[in-house]
Amino acid sequence: MKQIKFLDVGWTYQALAPKMDAAAKRVLESGWFIHGDEVEAFEKEFALYTGAKHCIGCGNGLEAIELVLRAAGVGPGDDVLVPSNTFIATWLAVTRTGANIIPVEPVEATYNMDPAKLEAALTPATKAIIPVHLYGQPSDMDPIMAFAEEHGLFVVTDAAQAHGAVYKGRMSGTLGHAAAFSFYPGKNLGAFGDGGAVTTMDDKIAERVRKLANYGSTEKYVHECKGFNSRLDEMQAAFLRVKLDKLDNWNWTRKTIASIYLEGLKDTPLVLPVIGEDIQSVWHLFVVRCKDRDGLIKHLAENKIEASIHYPVPPHKQGAYEEMATVSLPISERIHSEVLSLPMGPHMDEEDAQRVVEVVKAFF
Ligand SMILES: *Cc1c(COP(=O)(O)O)cnc(C)c1O
Repeated sequence: MKQIKFLDVGWTYQALAPKMDAAAKRVLESGWFIHGDEVEAFEKEFALYTGAKHCIGCGNGLEAIELVLRAAGVGPGDDVLVPSNTFIATWLAVTRTGANIIPVEPVEATYNMDPAKLEAALTPATKAIIPVHLYGQPSDMDPIMAFAEEHGLFVVTDAAQAHGAVYKGRMSGTLGHAAAFSFYPGKNLGAFGDGGAVTTMDDKIAERVRKLANYGSTEKYVHECKGFNSRLDEMQAAFLRVKLDKLDNWNWTRKTIASIYLEGLKDTPLVLPVIGEDIQSVWHLFVVRCKDRDGLIKHLAENKIEASIHYPVPPHKQGAYEEMATVSLPISERIHSEVLSLPMGPHMDEEDAQRVVEVVKAFF
């Protein structure tokens, strides 16, 4: 019986090996490794892909969020509204600016920030909101933007799991005032190392992000602000250009697998993902909920199918945020105790997805 991997980054190299080899050779032979033609070309191509006016490459997804927050003037004494259920990077980016985190609980069916809960979370010090497009599905942006506008808040979307996702005809990367992307290898658009980017329509934010990410400098050895070093390198940019060409195709494969899962598992006791109206998820993860999560994972493993958990422990229950240990976020806590991610990615075919369905069904 063939092993069905949860994710297979090695496969993404094998699928594109001649082009990847050529990209690596081109960069190595150029003798230029930081801020060169590849990064510039990738920034143009990714801006074009998302429809955003600006794209600025940076070191990783966490720094992309931090750079935008800092560019928007968020810092000590400010509050930022952040989902209670997200990968911890979203929280850490806020913490790194010195601002405070105000967790907002999700809509339980979609796992994304609940716009109806923003009002109660708002404080006089609130400066920004970070909707996360969790598992590949854009957050419900229209009510979030309306709320932000009413209260003069800055909105940065965490699009680390949503390359190519669409909300009411608009691409992820153009939703909100700015978007932060990660190109961690396992993402829908992943490098072979770390990488990230900020996209925005706002000229000022773009200029500030670019400056902050490059030692506060736009001109060599002239430093106008206390920036830091967060750069996408030439090699990763060259790899990302090859993969960007494949992104829609591979997102389509994910969608096909998701359809097979949704159809095949609809009569099981599992809680299946729910996608909002006029929203296209890019299925970064296919997350179900199961009362006997450990039992199902074991059953899948016995049948050579890898499952995973995103995420086992919510940020406020992590040691990193021990000051929040007594805070009660029941929806997030319930979600974290039941979620389970089925294998998902372009390394799979329809037959693999069908086998996952049969094996899951046999569990009940
Ligand atoms: C991966 C991820 C990040 C962080 O990206 P890195 O490139 O690993 O720093 C941030 N937020 C979310 C939701 C993510 O999934």
